[in-house]
Amino acid sequence: MSVVAIVGRPNVGKSTLFNRLLGERKALVEDFPGVTRDRNYALVTRHAKPFTLIDTGGFEPASEDRMLVQMREQSQLAIEEADLVLFVLDGRAGLTPADEEVAALLRQSTKPVLYVVNKVDGPQQEQAAAEFYGLGIESFVAISAEHGQGINDLVNQICAQLPPAPRETAAADQVRLAVIGRPNVGKSSLVNRLLGAERVVANPEAGTTRDSIDSPFRYNGKDFLLIDTAGIRRKGRVSQKLEKYSVLQALKAMDRAHVVLLLIDAAEGITEQDLTVAGYAYERGRALVLVVNKWDAVAKDHRTLNQFTQQVRDQFKFLPFAPVLFVSALTGQRVAKIMETVEQVANEFNRKVSTAELNRVLQAAEAAHQPPIFQGKRVKLFYMTQTAVRPPSFVIFVNRQEGLHFSYRRYLANKIREPFGFLGCPIRIEYRDRV
Ligand code: GDP
Ligand code: GDP
Repeated sequence: MSVVAIVGRPNVGKSTLFNRLLGERKALVEDFPGVTRDRNYALVTRHAKPFTLIDTGGFEPASEDRMLVQMREQSQLAIEEADLVLFVLDGRAGLTPADEEVAALLRQSTKPVLYVVNKVDGPQQEQAAAEFYGLGIESFVAISAEHGQGINDLVNQICAQLPPAPRETAAADQVRLAVIGRPNVGKSSLVNRLLGAERVVANPEAGTTRDSIDSPFRYNGKDFLLIDTAGIRRKGRVSQKLEKYSVLQALKAMDRAHVVLLLIDAAEGITEQDLTVAGYAYERGRALVLVVNKWDAVAKDHRTLNQFTQQVRDQFKFLPFAPVLFVSALTGQRVAKIMETVEQVANEFNRKVSTAELNRVLQAAEAAHQPPIFQGKRVKLFYMTQTAVRPPSFVIFVNRQEGLHFSYRRYLANKIREPFGFLGCPIRIEYRDRV
């Protein structure tokens, strides 16, 4: 998936623009507050071409004395990692020497840049914006991130610059599996275990990006592709510094995956970064297995497993459906369980439930617990159907969807999971009015 990075001085409106492009996120039924903690990255899918958006200003709090250094670093990061750079300028403050410096830096790179003059809220600023031609640029887009003016035009220009979404060339029944986790968590060790001797035979191909290595392999008669981010050391000095844990690298691997194995270090415990990355996997609708590695290195008694499991459940509250495995890539302990689980999760991820079965579940759920009364009338659930797999997605037709509050939607989601399981899979439920 393409990556679009926003750069610019502090206070020009980068995060306002970020949120504006992101738009209203579709509320997921199983959405929990805090799923995505840091909002430096977002998946933007509501336009002609999907892309990952980065707000480079979000990495470090802006500080006046380091402003120039920070801007250089952010621009460098964007140049290293993005397919398209949005350089945001402040139409109220006018052109500044810092802008000129960044513009010069961007010009030296071969990355396409869209110049965006923000805070153009009225005719007065429109007039004034002409001074940005002083940067020696051919054109810019004038917008008001706060009020939404010019955003459609900007989005059209973004989409025009991005390469077409890559076609899926892989066999349709191949399961793509990404192994992600912080540096040193044991990704390479696990990948070697999973691929074993096959890796030599499998002849790893360079991934479609320089961020991963793809290794095809077979398990239990099925084709898998392992997307391996381990061992790829970031070339970019700046991306390494600003992005210690390579969230972006994990995002790129996840984009191409069906099932994500998120490795957690048993010795170090769960980190903020693990939660952030899991949140993105969830948001992107990927199936997920939580793998607690280095279990051999933990001093244990009979309670340790339960305690750690509880910790995982408490922290990853938004992933109650994700299986948790405790393994040691070093000794090989329970590593065999991983592919067993992945196979099962992949099956669930691709599972299509018949409309008849779903409606039996819906009727039973409705009978056990009636929908609420809304404006003097009981909300009616007409029927439901599964509209997609990967992830399993459903539509429920109702008479008044605004009458179904969150807790009832959560109840229905649980009722749908109960008989079908969907182990490891986020599920999506959309409500539509039918009168
Ligand atoms: P960042 O530091 O570049 O991420 O900038 P922010 O998005 O935090 O915005 C800085 C300030 O500019 C905030 O007070 C915003 O409300 C304001 N701002 C952002 N976009 C616009 C706009 O289109 N018009 C006006 N007048 N103010 C804006
Ligand atoms: P990566 O950076 O995520 O690819 O991690 P590596 O696979 O390179 O492992 C980092 C370090 O952790 C190495 O010294 C490994 O030997 C060690 N390691 C990996 N898996 C385990 C494990 O299950 N138990 C223990 N004790 N050490 C492990």
